[in-house]
Amino acid sequence: MLTDRELLADRGDFAGDGGLAVRDPATGRLVAKLTTSDATGARAAVDAAQRAFPGWAGMLPQDRAAILHRWHGLIVAAGEDLARIMVAEQGKPISEARGEIDYAASFVQFYAEEALRPNIEGVTSHLPDAEMELWREPVGVAALITPWNFPCAMITRKAAAALGAGCTVVIHPSAETPLSALALSVLARRAGFPEGVVNTVIGDAATIVGEWTADRRVRALSFTGSTEVGRLLYRQSAETVKRLVLELGGHAPFIVFEHADLDRAVAEGIKAKFATSGQDCLGANRFYIHRPVYDEFCRRFAEATQRLTLGPGIEDPDIGPLIHGRQIDKQKAHVADALDKGARLLAGGTVDARGPLFFQPTVLADVPDDAAIMREETFGPVAALTPFDTEAQVYARANASEYGLIAYVHSLDPRRIYRATRALQYGMIAVNRTRVTGAPIPFGGMKQSGIGREGARQGLEAFTEIKYVCRDWA
Ligand code: NAD
Repeated sequence: MLTDRELLADRGDFAGDGGLAVRDPATGRLVAKLTTSDATGARAAVDAAQRAFPGWAGMLPQDRAAILHRWHGLIVAAGEDLARIMVAEQGKPISEARGEIDYAASFVQFYAEEALRPNIEGVTSHLPDAEMELWREPVGVAALITPWNFPCAMITRKAAAALGAGCTVVIHPSAETPLSALALSVLARRAGFPEGVVNTVIGDAATIVGEWTADRRVRALSFTGSTEVGRLLYRQSAETVKRLVLELGGHAPFIVFEHADLDRAVAEGIKAKFATSGQDCLGANRFYIHRPVYDEFCRRFAEATQRLTLGPGIEDPDIGPLIHGRQIDKQKAHVADALDKGARLLAGGTVDARGPLFFQPTVLADVPDDAAIMREETFGPVAALTPFDTEAQVYARANASEYGLIAYVHSLDPRRIYRATRALQYGMIAVNRTRVTGAPIPFGGMKQSGIGREGARQGLEAFTEIKYVCRDWA
């Protein structure tokens, strides 16, 4: 188990000056004050990762896998501690935090196993007397930059793939959730990763990450966060030609056709909208409901929303606080704008008496397509509902977004589901259910939702190079 002393002693691997206050979003209480790193610390982390790389890449895959398996076991064993740390700094309901730890651990186990798969592939020769092979080799040092909404899973999804492939890593977690990252790094050390293989650096994002994007020794960069920061890192990485994975924003449509199982559509819609208090890149932002079932869906969805409980994550409500005041401002702005443009308020609509970071679960009906909430990521507990009449119309409206991460479809008609799957320009299509992600599937989006995939075999691609070998014996 993790002790307070261990956590607080582990203030990032390259501590320098400055300070970072971590606060509980439910109460505003100071949870911890951490020393932070600067550009020198960021460089020192890359020095250490670069030094450790040949040894780690050259280790037998089964030895690397054994360390990953130990890390997995330690994460599972410390699951309750990790969940409580997450609740204290991120605010999500404790049962969601426990679920995230299981999800986070599953990537470590998955990539421990992937590390054992063959990394040499034969090619049918097009030249006489020549043998051809493709060798997959780790790229080198990988920089991993993660957001606050899934403070553990976003780290393990990247780190386990990179480490399993044979890369060493430098990790920069969000300033809102550094304790989860430090706890994972304590467990990594206990698992036996050699010195310099896993390096966590806390500090000013632009300074730390700017140092890494400029450093030629950092060969891959994997980022999860907003599209805005993703574009910036894409530009910054061009100069040093890094391999990139960008998991960016989303704006999921949730489409309910007539003849769907309406009870199920409502229950799954509640999950798709309100999990992680709506602060989820997979969160449903726009609900398109077939006209014949529109009124009924609106009524049942609003009733189900009104039954949701709100409170500090440790009390295990349905919805916890939002992470900071900017998130509250966004909810207020989206609600006011939609009402201004003619939407009807069916539930919630404002900040709750629980405290300044609690926003009531909110349902808006008849939201017009030109409302901000139909285009911009809301990232909070506000659902926008609108009717549609034809299939062609709903696919066009659902695709009229700069994002393309996930789309949800509810119908019991297989032909309609087939047509929807073909028509929707999204990296993931979830039919008649909400939770579809897991370590064995390639997670990622189209258009401005990003580049590359995480999880599955595809998650190794950014961290490996292909070396083509041709041997002529004649
Ligand atoms: P963010 O883009 O503000 O920050 C993400 C990370 O980038 C943080 O660690 C932050 O410290 C760092 N960062 C911020 N400014 C930076 C800069 N100038 N230079 C370098 N690094 C910088 O995002 P956020 O607010 O923490 O998270 C919410 C966003 O993340 C949403 O847009 C959401 O959709 C997206 N997200 C996407 C996925 C996905 O897998 N597609 C998953 C979770 C969150």
